Amino acid sequence: MDHFLYRDGVLHAEDVPVADIAASVGTPFYVYSTATLLRHFKLFDDALEGMDHLVCYAMKAASNQAILKTLAQAGAGMDVVSGGEYARARAAGVPGDKIVFSGVGKTADEIRKALIGGIRQFNVESEPELEVLNRVAGEVGVIAPITIRVNPDVDAKTHAKIATGKSENKFGIPIARAREVYAMAGAMDHLEVIGIDVHIGSQLTDLTPFELAYQKVAELTVQLREDGHDIRRLDLGGGLGIPYARSNEAPPLPTDYGALIKRTVGHLGCEVEIEPGRLIAGNAGLMVSEVIYVKSGEGRDFLILDGAMNDLIRPAMYEAHHDIVPVIEPAPGTEQAPYDIVGPVCESGDTFAKQRMMPPLAAGDLVAFRSAGAYGAVMSSEYNTRPLIPEVLVNGDQYAVIRARPTFDEMINRDTIPEWL
Ligand SMILES: *Cc1c(COP(=O)(O)O)cnc(C)c1O
Repeated sequence: MDHFLYRDGVLHAEDVPVADIAASVGTPFYVYSTATLLRHFKLFDDALEGMDHLVCYAMKAASNQAILKTLAQAGAGMDVVSGGEYARARAAGVPGDKIVFSGVGKTADEIRKALIGGIRQFNVESEPELEVLNRVAGEVGVIAPITIRVNPDVDAKTHAKIATGKSENKFGIPIARAREVYAMAGAMDHLEVIGIDVHIGSQLTDLTPFELAYQKVAELTVQLREDGHDIRRLDLGGGLGIPYARSNEAPPLPTDYGALIKRTVGHLGCEVEIEPGRLIAGNAGLMVSEVIYVKSGEGRDFLILDGAMNDLIRPAMYEAHHDIVPVIEPAPGTEQAPYDIVGPVCESGDTFAKQRMMPPLAAGDLVAFRSAGAYGAVMSSEYNTRPLIPEVLVNGDQYAVIRARPTFDEMINRDTIPEWL
C-alpha cells in the first residue's frame, strides 16, 4: 500500500497533487511519501514485536538526508555499505551504535572512520577483512564488535544481478567454512565476535529461501556457541520484494516474514536485526516525467519522455518492470494502445517499457513511474550531461525539495582545466 492515489482524477502524493509539484520544480523529478516510508518501517518493526530487535534501513536504496532523518526519528537504525553512507547516516543524526557496516570491500580508511565515529557492528565478509579490521582497531585502541557474513548457498530465485547467497557470489564466507573463520576471528585481540550475518539477495518474492537460510543460521548459532563464541545477535539481512506490477504480483508480507523469523531463530534468545531497503523505500517513491513527443514508427509508436535511463536505470540494468501511469486519470472505458516508452538518451537500452498499453497521451502530459523510490535516485547519473533530477518529499499537504536540480554551470564547473590548456 502507498499514498499515491487519484483524487478527483489527478494523481496525488498524500494530499499534494503531483501536477502542482511538476509545475513548481519541473520534470523529471522523484517524489517520496513520508507516510509510506513510515508505514513500511513500522510494518517491520511491528512484525518483530516481542523480540529484542532493530530494523536497520539499508540506506543504499534511497539515501537522501531527509529520508534518513524521517526513518531515524521513527527509531530506525541504518545499514551502510560505504564510508560515504556512514557519513550520510551520521549527518542525518543517526548515532553510531545504530549503524551496521556491511559490504565486501571496506577500506582501512573507511573502517578507521567508523571505529572512531562509533559503530554498532561490522559485518565482516572475508578473512583478509578480519585482519585489516583487527589491525586498524588495534591502532585506534578499540575493540571492534563483529559478525561474519555467511553465505548459506541458497538460491534466492531473483534476478542474477541481485542474488547474493549462492556459493558463486562474491558475498560472505561459505557457511561450510564458518567455524574455521570464526575460530580465527575469536583469536584476534581487537575483535569481539558478537553474532552472525546473512543476506541472500534482493527482491525475493517467496519466503522459502529466507526459511532455508535462517534455518542454517540457527544451526550455525548452536555450533558456534559449542565452539565457545558468545553469539547473541543475528543480522538477517534485507531482501523482501515488493509488487512492481500491481496487477499480478503479491510478494510476502512483512508480518509473515516476521513470523518466519520468530519460527526459525526465535528460540535462540538472540537480538535480531533486519536490513530492509527496497520494501521501505520502493513504493514510497514515484518518478514523474513529461511526454516530449509521441512518435509513430514502423509498426510501433513511441512515447518519448524527458526522463531517461540515467534517471532510473532499473529497466535497463535489471529488465525491471515499473507500472507507468498518467498523472491525469483517464476516463473510465478509455481505449488503450501499445507504446514503447523511451527516454532521450542515445542508447537503445534507454527503454522503460515495450508495447505497454497506455491511454492516449500527448506532448506535455505527465506520467508517473510507480515503485521508483528504491534504487532510483541513488543509481542515477549525469550521463549525456543530464542533471541529476530533483527529489521532493511530501508530508501530508506539505512538500519540500530535498535535493535541487543542479544548473548546467554547477555541473560544468565541477570539472577543472589543467594549466597547460
Ligand atoms: C542491498 C542490501 C540490503 C537491502 O536489500 P533490499 O532488497 O533493498 O531489502 C540489505 N543488506 C545488505 C548487506 C545489502 O547489501
